[in-house]
Amino acid sequence: MKEKIVKFLKQNIFNLKWTCNACKEENFNGEYFCPTCEKQFVYILENKCDHCGRLTSKPTLFCDDCTGKNIEFDTARSVYEYQEPISSLIKGFKYDGKRYLGEVFASKMLKVFLSNFSSANVLTYVPMTETKLKQRGYNQSKLLAEELSRLTSVEVMELAIKKKDTKAQATLSAKERKKNLKTSFKINKKLAKDKNVVIVDDVLTTGSTADVLAKGFKDAGAKSVNVITLCSVSFLNKKRV
Ligand SMILES: [Zn+2]
Ligand SMILES: [Zn+2]
Repeated sequence: MKEKIVKFLKQNIFNLKWTCNACKEENFNGEYFCPTCEKQFVYILENKCDHCGRLTSKPTLFCDDCTGKNIEFDTARSVYEYQEPISSLIKGFKYDGKRYLGEVFASKMLKVFLSNFSSANVLTYVPMTETKLKQRGYNQSKLLAEELSRLTSVEVMELAIKKKDTKAQATLSAKERKKNLKTSFKINKKLAKDKNVVIVDDVLTTGSTADVLAKGFKDAGAKSVNVITLCSVSFLNKKRV
């Protein structure tokens, strides 16, 4: 009964579509964002890398960032390029307790999910250590996976746990970073076996976390591992790192 009341309140009283979730102005278009804010978001459409899904200047099979790399996940797709104003919203979602944005973001990820990953039978997320979870109060990647699961009915499974935080990554080479990251996760091999997995996260930056998880799931016998994020960082306007 209590759950029903909470659901009713969520859907009817605290309707996230009554104000724009970016600028907070009243909004009457029945969407999560007002038309003015919508215009500022950079959607990733045809001009992207077919592999990592990052924004490119023209449709590309392998972008500069993917070329020559041994990438473990099959493909990655994102809704937006990571830049203002969406980047500020993500910061609020991650560090400022704005959990409700999970519903907003997942609704935006739905279309990308359905047109790319319809064969998925498991959603999973990037795990956090217990310590980090206590500090932050929630795992934003898990929230997104749960909201996306609500919209798609694809089950969320905890396919990995994070045993330790990887600090001082900046001083390490890319190879060492990956190795360091790899030993920080423990994969649930039984659950991952034979699954078509989609890893859900907020931002694809270097992609190395998704990559390490994908390798772990594949080693455990997963049939496919794809990645969906709300945003990805493109290398179009930035120096590559
Ligand atoms: Zn707005
Ligand atoms: Zn690429």
